Amino acid sequence: MDSGFTLGLDPRAMFLVNAISLIVFSGAFFSAWIKEKKNTYWLYWIAANMAFGLSFVLFAVIDLNSVRQFVVPNCLLVLGLGFRWQALQVFYGRDMSFRASFKVSYFPVLLVAVLFLFKNSAGTGVVYGGVNVVIAVQLMLIIHVLLTEKREDLPSRWGLVVAYALIWGSTVARVIQGWWPGDDVTSLLPRDLLLEIHLLLATVHIIASGAFALSLAYERGASDLRQLALRDPLTGLHNRRAFEEFIARATPLYLGERFAVATFDIDHFKRINDQFGHALGDAALQRFALVLLKILRQTDFVSRMGGEEFVVVLPKTSLAEAHMIVERVRSAVEKDGVRHREAIVRFTVSAGVHGARTGTMEMSEIVKRADANLYAAKIGGRNRVEVSSS
Ligand code: GH3
Ligand code: MG
Ligand code: MG
Repeated sequence: MDSGFTLGLDPRAMFLVNAISLIVFSGAFFSAWIKEKKNTYWLYWIAANMAFGLSFVLFAVIDLNSVRQFVVPNCLLVLGLGFRWQALQVFYGRDMSFRASFKVSYFPVLLVAVLFLFKNSAGTGVVYGGVNVVIAVQLMLIIHVLLTEKREDLPSRWGLVVAYALIWGSTVARVIQGWWPGDDVTSLLPRDLLLEIHLLLATVHIIASGAFALSLAYERGASDLRQLALRDPLTGLHNRRAFEEFIARATPLYLGERFAVATFDIDHFKRINDQFGHALGDAALQRFALVLLKILRQTDFVSRMGGEEFVVVLPKTSLAEAHMIVERVRSAVEKDGVRHREAIVRFTVSAGVHGARTGTMEMSEIVKRADANLYAAKIGGRNRVEVSSS
């Protein structure tokens, strides 16, 4: 295994370079934590980098021929990986019980400490390989967390997978080296090409994983903000902006399909506000949103355009079906109401529906015609549904 060829890198200097990189990233994690103290994700990253950093400083100063001196830095390395795993568990809201953390974080530390007790009977090559097996398993558990996340696909997750896979590959190579038959590994850190490559990959890993740990969290922040910008805070429905984005995409998406748009407006809403107060008006809006969500289907697009005006898009729906669904909403609202002290405040809603085939007319034109029907429903006495199709 040992060809005798090396890159001429000084392992002690490399350990120090890695320790410094870890500390620099801890600083970045620390400033992120200052702004977001409740997020323990940052604390686990700081703890992990501190454990790694201390481990590397120790590796740089210990006597490389004294096996005993390897116990603490190796235990710190394994502890740091445990913290990295915990950081991801926190991030994805997964199991953080003591049992789970013990299995992945603390038990491996004990295992590594115990391995060193067998250095005389088993030989340093076996101990050395054993420690790397523990590390490789921890790395696989971290990669597993990243690969099994189904709900949210933030791009930086893949950067982290690559960063961990690189160091995993290099660790497996070290296991093979430690256990290679006939290879006389007398030191836990043979000064050879493989160690140099391993330390170079460690530098790449530290920088890449640190950068992706930061961007992963910021990507979630940006995605949350975007979601927030597309929602109406009072009812949780899509807002006008989300509606416009949906409409812009809808024509090619449902080309040639039957399509219906329904617009709703609560009747005499001003009176409800004036008589019972703005808070009750808000409660009525929320109540109406619940009725819409209960009656409409998963594939329908339900939005609040502002005030007490709501628009629903019903893809792949004939005018007759749309009419039936909207009539069901109107009738449910009539029977519903909002509790006010001992009484129930009742209210009604008017609606306009227009059905068309996608692609035969502009989306905005379909909405306009639904609106015209809504106006007709108001004129016609309110608490009713007017429909038309083209
Ligand atoms: P019509 O039957 O003709 O629709 O009568 P209306 O009183 O419902 O009509 P109008 O559009 O004039 O009144 C809408 C009222 O909705 C005016 C405004 O005070 C109220 N409003 C708008 N947004 C909100 C809101 O977020 N909360 C509450 N409570 N009231 C709102
Ligand atoms: Mg109204
Ligand atoms: Mg109105």
